[in-house]
Amino acid sequence: MTEDVLVRVNNLVKHFPVPGKRKSVVHAVDDVSFAIRKGEILGLVGESGCGKSTIAKSIVRMHKPTSGSIFMGSRDITGLSEKDLKPYRKRMQMVFQDPYSSLNPRMTVLKLVAEPLIAQGIVSKARQAKDTIVDMLNNVGLSAEHCSRYPHEFSGGQRQRICLARALILEPEFIILDEPISALDVSIQAQVINLLQEFKQKRSLTYLFIAHDLSMVRYVSDHVGVMYLGKMMEYCDSEQIYNRPLHPYTQGLLAAVPVPDPVSAISKNTTAIEGDLPSPISPPEGCRFHTRCSECMNICREEEPKLRDVGGGHMVACHLMD
Ligand code: SF4
Repeated sequence: MTEDVLVRVNNLVKHFPVPGKRKSVVHAVDDVSFAIRKGEILGLVGESGCGKSTIAKSIVRMHKPTSGSIFMGSRDITGLSEKDLKPYRKRMQMVFQDPYSSLNPRMTVLKLVAEPLIAQGIVSKARQAKDTIVDMLNNVGLSAEHCSRYPHEFSGGQRQRICLARALILEPEFIILDEPISALDVSIQAQVINLLQEFKQKRSLTYLFIAHDLSMVRYVSDHVGVMYLGKMMEYCDSEQIYNRPLHPYTQGLLAAVPVPDPVSAISKNTTAIEGDLPSPISPPEGCRFHTRCSECMNICREEEPKLRDVGGGHMVACHLMD
């Protein structure tokens, strides 16, 4: 294993049972592998239901993987007991999409930010950590006077800052950002992105940044992985994904990114993806994207394309590359 890899996901599979149907499963994630180096930001992109959040929750063990393995550093943490996993939970934290539903409305900001410290046994009462918490609130652009307030007293952007303070208070190395700005006003999104970048620099953090469109991860990610229906379709450094997208699905996602200039928008010679995402209970045979792909060939309906390196670490799962 490469020494500077912080998180490695190997052949991860996560299937969920379908209630009332004993033989059916939801294929949320099927055989996905990637590695995130220390200090890197990996952007994971795809439509809702493609398995991005399931991967995130499997890494922090909110879901138990069906098969495959997850490494933190050189340690396989997939099968660890809750007790053995506790020190690793301190090293990795997660920020969710909706800052309102991730904060208990009955708790003050002081108690909310103290919760991870109490869960890790670092303090037993929130007030014991008040100085540390005030410091952290200052770091995320809030102040001591916010300690006694409740989540409903804040704007969406401020609530996401509270979530960030909660994630950072344990001084983790790795943070999963699950669509952290999707629920925020456009004017606030840039502020939160800047704050995330600032913390990454100051604290040498590593991020897994999940988003549903490529425009969101363009300016922050070192590498980008594009997922479709539980599978990784394309993976490479972010320059390549924008300048030389090879998978028809990635090309479709890029075509869907709004262009601010109407003239260039009209001249943009790309086709957006049509149709709906097939059911993950019975994903299409062969290439999972074949039912929506404008370049579908006979082989695509029969044989699943393997994700392979087509040069310079640019990984693509498409028969057009054969
Ligand atoms: Fe399209 Fe075939 Fe490539 Fe799948 S394998 S993306 S169906 S061309």
